[in-house]
Amino acid sequence: MPKRIVILGAGESGAGAAVLAKKQGFDVFVSDMSVIKDQYKELLNSRGIEWEEGHHTEELILNADEIIKSPGIPNDAPLLLKLQEKGTPIISEIEFAGRYTNAKMICITGSNGKTTTTSLIYHIFKKAGLNVGLAGNIGQSLALQVAECNHDYYVIELSSFQLDNMYNFRANIAILMNITPDHLDRYDHNMQNYIDSKFRITQNQTDEDAFIFWNDDPIIQEELKKHGIHAHLYPFSIDKEEGVKAYVDQDKVVFSDPIAFNMEQEELSLTGTHNLYNSMAAGISANLAGIRKEYIREALSDFKEVEHRLEKVARVRGIDFINDSKATNVNSCWYALESMKTKVVLILGGKDKGNDYTEIEQLVKEKVSALVFLGVDNSKLHAFFDGKVEKIADARSMKEAVDLAYNLAQKGETVLLSPCCASFDLFKSYEDRGRQFKECVRNL
Ligand code: ADP
Repeated sequence: MPKRIVILGAGESGAGAAVLAKKQGFDVFVSDMSVIKDQYKELLNSRGIEWEEGHHTEELILNADEIIKSPGIPNDAPLLLKLQEKGTPIISEIEFAGRYTNAKMICITGSNGKTTTTSLIYHIFKKAGLNVGLAGNIGQSLALQVAECNHDYYVIELSSFQLDNMYNFRANIAILMNITPDHLDRYDHNMQNYIDSKFRITQNQTDEDAFIFWNDDPIIQEELKKHGIHAHLYPFSIDKEEGVKAYVDQDKVVFSDPIAFNMEQEELSLTGTHNLYNSMAAGISANLAGIRKEYIREALSDFKEVEHRLEKVARVRGIDFINDSKATNVNSCWYALESMKTKVVLILGGKDKGNDYTEIEQLVKEKVSALVFLGVDNSKLHAFFDGKVEKIADARSMKEAVDLAYNLAQKGETVLLSPCCASFDLFKSYEDRGRQFKECVRNL
């Protein structure tokens, strides 16, 4: 009897895992609580994979030898608790796919900067002509690519939820951008649980591997003392500190290992301090992969910004509009504000994840001329910001928010959507929120 693998959740990762599992000869069943998108139904049907939607039939699931779980399903969902009680192994799609490839794995995690850094690395590797796949949280299934493509390298964005169900997977290059509070609702409101989850990216690494991390992050520094890391360390920093492998020296970004080279800061296509970090992490990983410095320089110079991340939308009567809808936590908004060269009308709000706005208070005082709160419940924002900024307005739709911001902004100022919050109170997703913003701006 072939081993039975049940896949919970039939999105990109689940459908991809099912295809790979089927190809490996397992008895495969896919179960999704909600409606499965047509494209994934077609994929499953084309491979003769059984599936159900709208519910989980326990007797078809509890007899599994192994479960592959979508990162969106919490580990304490009732069905998951039953499986854990039975001792059924529960793994992530990335863990599963990792068993069936010998490709080099470059894995990126962190609270912020994952997608940008992942995209930068992919862009450099592509430019250098390497056979590389892009996978993980960024929206493409690793398992599907392992089943159907034969890449030599994978650049994989990993969320903490994916890392939680990874056990034997080994990253040849692991990158940890930073750790600030996020998703604490899924970690028993315990920051240490979230930190431990992020550090899982280094588990199973050996002295043949590399661990790239932001040296200036106090949480990472503290954790490094506790975790026995076997990989070679590649810290990067804004300052020229002892042992760092990339740093900023006046107008230059300096890379030192294994090949030494530097770039003018001005040459980097992405602006803002946070993007210096993202560019340094990407540059180090490409350097480690043996990519020539000419390619790294060129790729870091011609990379196009990723949608919804400090994306320039338009200039309307001397007012710039910037879409940073992906700023779903306070720290990412801090970096967005920090990179602004003009006074800002800031649109923020949405579904609060236990935010503490103290972190951006100083920058708001220095740079923000008006605030527009966009959410179903703005009371927490009012409690914090009332009296600190002169002009504050409330909006219940994106159109209202954009109109208000446009009226409040002076010529030469910037309207920045950088919400600090999740989007689910008024929008389907942060992408939906960002696209509505762009549409409203274009209709001004
Ligand atoms: P993630 O995939 O981790 O959510 P993104 O690359 O999508 O990260 O960027 C999300 C937001 O976080 C951006 O809009 C930007 O404001 C901010 N950001 C990007 N890189 C960093 C970084 N290295 N440190 C802090 N904030 C960042």
